[in-house]
Amino acid sequence: MAENCIFCKIIKKEIRSQIVYEDEDTIAFHDINPQAPVHILVIPKKHIPSLAEVHENDKDILGKLLLTASKVAKKLAISEDGYRVVVNTNRDAQQTVFHIHVHVIGGRPMSWPPG
Ligand code: 5GP
Ligand code: ZN
Repeated sequence: MAENCIFCKIIKKEIRSQIVYEDEDTIAFHDINPQAPVHILVIPKKHIPSLAEVHENDKDILGKLLLTASKVAKKLAISEDGYRVVVNTNRDAQQTVFHIHVHVIGGRPMSWPPG
């Protein structure tokens, strides 16, 4: 847990969020500013600042993030039509919250390449 981290506060339930899934390692909740009909953030309960700062011993939790993303997509019925998984990392990708998170975005067709 990190002081002054919004997502650590969401994990501790000090900040309210609309949680759609939770297990011992991960939590998933609706993004406060959704970019599509379904926009979920999946985060680890361990505070890792970004994908640029992961270590060999984070491989289980990194795998768990994608497993949770897949479960959430099924739960919210976007799995069959499809969805996008995004991990914005550092400045060029416009990461704004420095607690690693996986965006799960779906419910509408998307274009490629992304902006
Ligand atoms: P990033 O830009 O770092 O990849 O994504 C951060 C995301 O967190 C943004 O999509 C933003 O809308 C979302 N976000 C920021 N603060 C909060 C909050 O307090 N609650 C929720 N549910 N989402 C948040
Ligand atoms: Zn944190």
